[in-house]
Amino acid sequence: MAQVQPVIILPEGTKRTHGRSAQRNNILAARAVADTVRTTLGPKGMDKMLVDNMGEVIVTNDGVTILKEMTIEHPTAKMIVEVAKTQEAEVGDGTTTAVVIAGELLKKAEELIDLEIHPTVIAKGYALAEQKAQEILSTISEKVTEADTEILKKIASTAMTGKGADQDKTKLAEIAIAAVRQVMERSSSAVSVSKEDIKIEKRAGASIDDSELIKGILVDKERLHEGMPKTVKNARIALIDTPVEIKNTEIDAKIQIDEPDQLQAFLTQEENMLRSMVDKIAKTGANVLFCQKGIDDMAQHFLAKKGIYAVRRVAKSDLERLSRATQAKIVSNLDEISAEDLGSAGLVEEQKVGDDNMTYVRDCSNPKSVTILVRGGTNHIVDEIKRAVEDAICDLSAALVDGKVVAGAGAPELEMSRGIKKYAESLAGREQLAVLAYSEAIEVIPRTLAENGGLDPIDIMTELKSQHEKGMKWSGVNVFTGRPMDAWKQGVIEPLRIKTQAISSATEVASMILRIDDVIASGQKTAPEKEGSPMGAGMHGMGGMSGGGMPEY
Ligand code: ADP
Ligand code: MG
Repeated sequence: MAQVQPVIILPEGTKRTHGRSAQRNNILAARAVADTVRTTLGPKGMDKMLVDNMGEVIVTNDGVTILKEMTIEHPTAKMIVEVAKTQEAEVGDGTTTAVVIAGELLKKAEELIDLEIHPTVIAKGYALAEQKAQEILSTISEKVTEADTEILKKIASTAMTGKGADQDKTKLAEIAIAAVRQVMERSSSAVSVSKEDIKIEKRAGASIDDSELIKGILVDKERLHEGMPKTVKNARIALIDTPVEIKNTEIDAKIQIDEPDQLQAFLTQEENMLRSMVDKIAKTGANVLFCQKGIDDMAQHFLAKKGIYAVRRVAKSDLERLSRATQAKIVSNLDEISAEDLGSAGLVEEQKVGDDNMTYVRDCSNPKSVTILVRGGTNHIVDEIKRAVEDAICDLSAALVDGKVVAGAGAPELEMSRGIKKYAESLAGREQLAVLAYSEAIEVIPRTLAENGGLDPIDIMTELKSQHEKGMKWSGVNVFTGRPMDAWKQGVIEPLRIKTQAISSATEVASMILRIDDVIASGQKTAPEKEGSPMGAGMHGMGGMSGGGMPEY
C-alpha cells in the first residue's frame, strides 16, 4: 500500500490525547479532585479556606461547597465535581463521601489497567459490585418514623458533626427537627418534605445559641412608613403581587395642562385613585400588607393612616412562603380582593436583627412554611452554621421520606466491602478481580475517617474487619479514641439515601471516565465558544483518524 499523507482534520491548537495516556491523565485529574476534599471527611476532617478572584474568603468543611468554588479546568475533573453536585441535589449531604469513593474506584481501576485488564471489563465488574452493594445496604438498613425523636436527633447531629456547629448541636438539631415536622406533608402511603418550605436566614452578631425557629416567615424588609404600627397582634394579612401605584409604563401619555386648576384636578384625581386602592385593601379588614411590587409614597401615607403595616418589593419566593405559612391567597387584582383572601398570624412585628430591621411574621397556626434564623459571631461562622443546618434538614427529610437509616462511621462501607468480597468468590477471572477491587475501594471511607482522626488506619481496619466478620454490622471508627465502636449505639446515624446515592453516582462516573480513550480539546483561544464540547458527540466519529499529527500528551 502506498504511504498516505496524514489528514489534518482538527484546527490548530487542538489538544488530543488518546489510548492509555488519555486514561491515565483522566484518572489522575479525577483523583486529584478527590484527594482535595478527602481530608475534610468526617468529624475530625479539616477545613479549607477558599479565596475567590474578588478576594472573598470562605472557610468550609463542606465537599460540594469546596468543589463549586474551585476553578477546575480538566474535563474529567469537572465530571467528578458533577458527582458532588448530583449528591447535593438528590440528598444534600454525603458529597465528600461520593467523591472520595469515585476517586478510589479510579485508583483501583488504574492498577487493573496496568495488569492489562480492559476498562470495559472493569466497568462491568464495578456495575456488578455496585448492584451487590445496593442489596447489602437495603438489607442492613433500619426503619425510622416521625415518632422516633431520639433517632431524629442523632441524624441531625451526625449531619452537623465537624461543621463548626458542634457545641450547639443539640439546640440546632431540635430546631431542624421541629422545622421538618412542621412542613412535612403526610398522606396514608407517603410523606414528603419540600425544602423550599424551610427558609434559612442568617445574621452575624449574636451567639449560635440565639438561633431560633420562627413559626412563620422572616422577611428581610422593614415597614414602609414611620406612621405604621411596629407591632400587629392577631394579624390579618393581605398578599398582593400588583403595584399600589398609578404608573403605566407601557403607554407613554402626555398631558397638557394650561391652567393651575387643571393641575390641581389632575393631582386630586391621582390621589383619589390611590386612596381608593388603599380603601379596597382596608375594607377586607387587613392590618398587614405584603406587596411584591412598589407602593406609592402617597399610598404609604394612606396605609399608615389606616393603621396597616405594609412592606413593598417582597421577593416572589417570600410571598409564596407567606402564603403557605398564613393561608393567605396572593391577589393580582385589587378590584377582586376580599376578606377571604386574607391570611393570619399571631404576631407581625418589626425587629432589628444585626444592623437591619426585619419583619417577623410569627405564631402562625400550623404553617406549611417556616423560617430558621441562624445566628453566630461572624459572617464566616453563620455561613458554615447555615450549611450545617441545611445538611441536617436534608438528612432528616431523606430519612423520613424513605423511612430508612443506617449507622455511619464507616460501618456500612465495611459491611458492603465484606459482602462484595464474598460475592467475588462466586465469579471467575478478570471480572472477579474488578469486583474485588471495588470491595477494597469502598473501604476508603473508614480508612479516611481514621486517617483524618490522626490514627494509624492499619490496626483499626484489621480490628473492624474482624468485628464485621463476627456479625457486628454497625462496628465503625471512633475517631476520638481510635478504637472500634458500635456506631448505632453511639448515635452516628444517617439516612440510607446518602449511601445508596453516593455509591451509585461514584460507580457511574468511574465507569464513564474509564470508557474514555480519547480526549480532544479545542484550543481555548481559537474556539472559545465551544466550551464543554471536547467530550461531546464528535469523539466517536474520529476513531479512524489516529496518526493525525496531534501531540500525544
Ligand atoms: P460528607 O460530605 O460525605 O457528608 P462529612 O465530612 O459530613 O462528609 O463526613 C461524613 C462521614 O463522617 C460519614 O461517613 C459519617 O458516618 C462520618 N461520621 C459522622 N459523625 C461521626 C462520628 N461521630 N464518628 C465517626 N464518624 C462519623
Ligand atoms: Mg456530611
